[in-house]
Amino acid sequence: MALNHVLGYRCSVCGAEQAYAPRDVVYACPRCSGNFDLVFDYEAIRRAAPGRATPEPSLWRYLPLLPVSDPGLTGTPLRAAGWTPLYRAERLEERLGQNRVFIKDDGRNPTASFKDRASAVVVARALELGVSRVVTASTGNAGAALAGMAAAAGVPATILAPASAPPAKVAQLLVFGAQVVLVDGTYDDAFDLTVQAAETFGWYCRNTGYNPFTAEGKKSAAFEIAEQLAAFSVPIDGCWPVPDVLCVSVGDGNILSGIWRGFQDLLRLGWTERMPKLIGVQAEGSAACARAWESQAEKIVPVSARTLADSISVDLPRDGLRAVHAVRDTGGSFVVVSDDEILAAMATLGREAAVFAEPAGATAYAGLAKAVGQGLVPADASVLVMNTGNGLKDVASARRAVSEPMRIAPNLESLREALGARSA
Ligand SMILES: *Cc1c(COP(=O)(O)O)cnc(C)c1O
Ligand SMILES: [Zn+2]
Repeated sequence: MALNHVLGYRCSVCGAEQAYAPRDVVYACPRCSGNFDLVFDYEAIRRAAPGRATPEPSLWRYLPLLPVSDPGLTGTPLRAAGWTPLYRAERLEERLGQNRVFIKDDGRNPTASFKDRASAVVVARALELGVSRVVTASTGNAGAALAGMAAAAGVPATILAPASAPPAKVAQLLVFGAQVVLVDGTYDDAFDLTVQAAETFGWYCRNTGYNPFTAEGKKSAAFEIAEQLAAFSVPIDGCWPVPDVLCVSVGDGNILSGIWRGFQDLLRLGWTERMPKLIGVQAEGSAACARAWESQAEKIVPVSARTLADSISVDLPRDGLRAVHAVRDTGGSFVVVSDDEILAAMATLGREAAVFAEPAGATAYAGLAKAVGQGLVPADASVLVMNTGNGLKDVASARRAVSEPMRIAPNLESLREALGARSA
């Protein structure tokens, strides 16, 4: 009996269906290599979750909506992923001329990025399957998250990352005890190699936009947004509110499609009444999804990615089609921002909202500022900005976003002089 309420898999591209079997390792569609969506029994979920959520302060509060059985591991970081803080940012509202701006800070996850949501669920799935090792390609955060969640569960992990990954992220991989392989090539090279390695060595592959369980972990952010926003508004017919507009950065597109998926679940369960408009934000130098959306194409044309926001630097978005569909389906849009706008957004988020974001996280706010400037966001809309990663992940970029500190001899005269010079 499936306790996880999963009925099967359906290809998001060609519609092919496959039944769920508890011990089957399933990745992409064998017919067209499109990404699989999981198909749920919503009646069974409704019966299993009469109170919608338990009081557990993590994504596991929504266990009946997740495609895995209870992994146990209570008291470990795997059990602590998710349930990140949601803030109201009044100074950003003033700055943008918007009524309601909220920030969800997923930099506050156990390994300091949104990727913990996916990795916690994938490792729970790995435990069900009884695999010997988990593996992923990563620009840094997916690997750090998989390494951390695997360490929490005592499962061996191998991470393949491009040699250009920021040092803090590589340090995280090593500290969590993963086998770390730096690949002299791009993320896309590491991705293909990981798929081959998993096949050859019988490892369980977490790759984003390949393993259907990553989006299932990521959808938990949508549940939290709806539940947490209820604290800021009067409930209508007992439903949870949804933001009018949600901004999130896009690399492979799996966070965006996971969040879309989560809001679809809520709507199907009748726990919410509508969908938010999803705004996908890409860096100018890594904008394959935005280009496909603009040209209304059903195919993603790869780019040669170049942006300082390493977490969204992707040549061929592996979940790009679903991301484009998410934006189209919700009446949202794609917005493209420059690296300078991303750096400015890091400084603004820190100064005006006390949130320290890595470049790919601040990209979501840069996109909101741009979308407001382009008239895409009505002033009375409620807006949620998703920060996907912590600024400590990439201190070198953070230093580029701000000015140099003053430096003085240790006496009051020097201090007075320096302060005077600064204010003049
Ligand atoms: C992975 C990541 C993203 C982008 O997620 P995709 O699923 O690749 O679109 C954005 N920000 C951060 C910090 C990330 O680690
Ligand atoms: Zn298919």
